[in-house]
Amino acid sequence: MWRRVVSLSPVISSSKSSLLNQAAYRFRIWESFATEIINPGKCGISPMEKTPFITFVLGGPGSGKGTQCIKIADTFGFMHLSAGDLLRTEIASNSEDGAMILNTIKEGKIVPSEVTVKLIQREIESSDCHKFLIDGFPRTEENRIAFEKIMGVEPKIVLFFDCPEEEMVKRVLGRNEGRVDDNIDTMKKRLNVFTALSLPVINYYEKKGKLYTINAVGSVDEIFEKVRPVFAECEEMTQ
Ligand code: UDP
Ligand code: MG
Repeated sequence: MWRRVVSLSPVISSSKSSLLNQAAYRFRIWESFATEIINPGKCGISPMEKTPFITFVLGGPGSGKGTQCIKIADTFGFMHLSAGDLLRTEIASNSEDGAMILNTIKEGKIVPSEVTVKLIQREIESSDCHKFLIDGFPRTEENRIAFEKIMGVEPKIVLFFDCPEEEMVKRVLGRNEGRVDDNIDTMKKRLNVFTALSLPVINYYEKKGKLYTINAVGSVDEIFEKVRPVFAECEEMTQ
């Protein structure tokens, strides 16, 4: 479980006070020791409250985000949070935002940030896991800024599944999951939204040096072999 107020570093470690730095360092040693001895769970639970390791997984509709997230979660012990699935669960549970979310999805538009961030926040804060794949979010610069503001944390890495439009259209129209937005009209709108609103988020993380671009054409296993080294490389960071 994680609460923003107790995230010690990087705030403390970037402080000029060496005393504070020492305290933070001691805390970290104790924290990792505690993690070792007190019953770590399936995702590397720490009994201490720990800053979550966030990975954003981005790409157009049908680029393979969800499929690859399932494999990453299984292989590397992440919790997979699909923003689209969280929104669809809200619709199914007849919540007060349900009708608005359904209309927004049918139109291929973006649900207001505070709604989506609140759903993601609830999952992160109630989880014992500290490594998260956030699939299909942020979709706009406004989403990104709202997440950072509300959660007080930035992603450590961002994956981008880069896929040609015609391939994405073929996959979405062929996937038969009964989704209200998997039709040619909504798909065209979603592709326009992706180019106009989501690509700027991807560019932002590229400039920050956090972006890993994966060529998303190929079989599921072929693509996973390109994803695997990204997580193998940063496995130490995620402990
Ligand atoms: N959506 C949204 N905000 C999000 C994620 C999804 O508004 O952060 C809406 C949006 O209308 C999008 C739809 O949910 O087109 C489906 O998103 P999902 O990620 O499930 O679609 P995918 O890209 O996986 O096909
Ligand atoms: Mg998906």
